[in-house]
Amino acid sequence: MINSSITADTSLDFDAVVIGSGCGGAVAAAELACAGHRVLVLEKGKYFSLSGMSGVEGEALDQLYERGGIVSTEDTGLAVLVGGTFGGGSAVNWACCLRTPDYVRQEWATEHGLKRFATVEFGDALDAICKRINVTSTGISHNRNNELFIDGCQKAGYEVEDAPQNMADVSPGASGAGFICAGDRNEITQSMTYSPARCSCSTGSCTICRSVQSV
Ligand SMILES: Cc1cc2nc3c(=O)[nH]c(=O)nc-3n(C[C@H](O)[C@H](O)[C@H](O)COP(=O)(O)OP(=O)(O)OC[C@H]3O[C@@H](n4cnc5c(N)ncnc54)[C@H](O)[C@@H]3O)c2cc1C
Repeated sequence: MINSSITADTSLDFDAVVIGSGCGGAVAAAELACAGHRVLVLEKGKYFSLSGMSGVEGEALDQLYERGGIVSTEDTGLAVLVGGTFGGGSAVNWACCLRTPDYVRQEWATEHGLKRFATVEFGDALDAICKRINVTSTGISHNRNNELFIDGCQKAGYEVEDAPQNMADVSPGASGAGFICAGDRNEITQSMTYSPARCSCSTGSCTICRSVQSV
């Protein structure tokens, strides 16, 4: 973060500026940096260190969510949970990683003219990000609620599968599991805060700045 090093009006020189450090912004910034460009990421949310997060739900909503977790449509008919901290939604989300289904990609391409989604390159991009954030559906342990839910579904004849997820630790008793939406204090998700920002490229550079005002 460069905020603390800027004390007066200054001039900065970058090849690219990315607004927002969430799932989209962080990946774009990492890709640009890996391609050798100097990138500035402007993020309006505050960065919290692992020890700086209390894990208390009310405080987490205030600190880590956009508008304290009460974003809704104009008619208030639909509530939308949005992350509002460094890492965007990835800093608080539930880590379920579903690939865009092929039939949806086809629909976007044929009915909406978004042809890129039907290409092999887009499939490769999904593979690349799944690999980078360690998406897995094997060895996943479940809490008691989910165990009961799975048991009930199976007894009712439904097919049950584990949803793929990008947790660093999916074993029983993983520290902090079940509480990541109040801040990932144990760093068990591969959120944008940690994974693309840790992109091990040596060619470019990625500088992060907290923007005081929305751009
Ligand atoms: C509690 C919760 C659980 C979720 N669970 C899942 C899940 O299990 N699986 C799944 O696939 N998805 C899940 N999601 C949704 C997923 O996290 C979002 O779809 C995803 O984060 C969207 O990525 P994005 O890059 O579009 O935006 P975001 O990740 O929201 O990032 C946008 C970033 O831009 C910043 N920003 C916005 N405006 C400005 C500005 N003007 N200047 C500077 N910075 C700005 C914001 O502060 C934010 O950090 C969940 C979301 C939440 C909130």
